[in-house]
Amino acid sequence: MSASGVSRRSPRSKTRSSLAVNAANDTGAIRKAKPQVRAVLARFLRSAGTNLAHDAATAYRRLRKDDADTVAAIVDQLGFQDWDSLSDSLKQHLIAVYQESGAEAVAAVLDRPLVAELFGALNQPAADYATARGAELVTQITDATRDGLRGLIEDAFTDGMSPADLAASIRGSYLFSPERADLIAQTELGMAHVSGTLEGWKQSGVVEGKSLILSNDHDQDDECNDAADLGVVPLDSDFDGLGDPPIHPRCECDVIPQVVAADEAD
Ligand SMILES: [Zn+2]
Repeated sequence: MSASGVSRRSPRSKTRSSLAVNAANDTGAIRKAKPQVRAVLARFLRSAGTNLAHDAATAYRRLRKDDADTVAAIVDQLGFQDWDSLSDSLKQHLIAVYQESGAEAVAAVLDRPLVAELFGALNQPAADYATARGAELVTQITDATRDGLRGLIEDAFTDGMSPADLAASIRGSYLFSPERADLIAQTELGMAHVSGTLEGWKQSGVVEGKSLILSNDHDQDDECNDAADLGVVPLDSDFDGLGDPPIHPRCECDVIPQVVAADEAD
């Protein structure tokens, strides 16, 4: 299937035509949450970068010898304890996006107004999601940051950098940049959106499957095309191991529901 040839609004299979699909990053909840989440992350990364640059340069000054064990020793000395606080700062936003996406999903498939009661039914699942995902995302971000720092410290040894140069290279690296904050914000909000949507469909009782719809600016074939080519899969399917969207960094694909035919629903 050609990505550019698929219109977001063209219904696939027997999806109701009233189910307009937003780009996963273009719902009201995401538009509201994204600048805040991005700011929280950017602020956190900038301050963590300053601290880690200082600590790494101090350890590097002390342990400057050119072997891998030394690199590992420096990385091991770096503290990431305060990174757990990140999940608390992001939690409310994950909950808001999950809940609003879920409530909107139910309202759409049942063709009902978006009333408060739909949000209430998602209280617990949204809280559970935010707790589980919050912990997971901190682990992922911390691990990736540690790996990145290892690379920067190796480079410092290779290039014979001074401790001050290493500190500067850490502070200026992508790891602590606004660009990374933006990517993480987009990914996390996209995940919360799709997870909430799937929970909403489950609660509605009228959705028997889902399919992946490619985002509009999907101009190169990738694993999202493979997931889309599977067509309708069960609601709890992981798209043949690819997972629900976002499937890769900057993925803006979404899911659309396969609604049980009216005569089967009764
Ligand atoms: Zn995609």
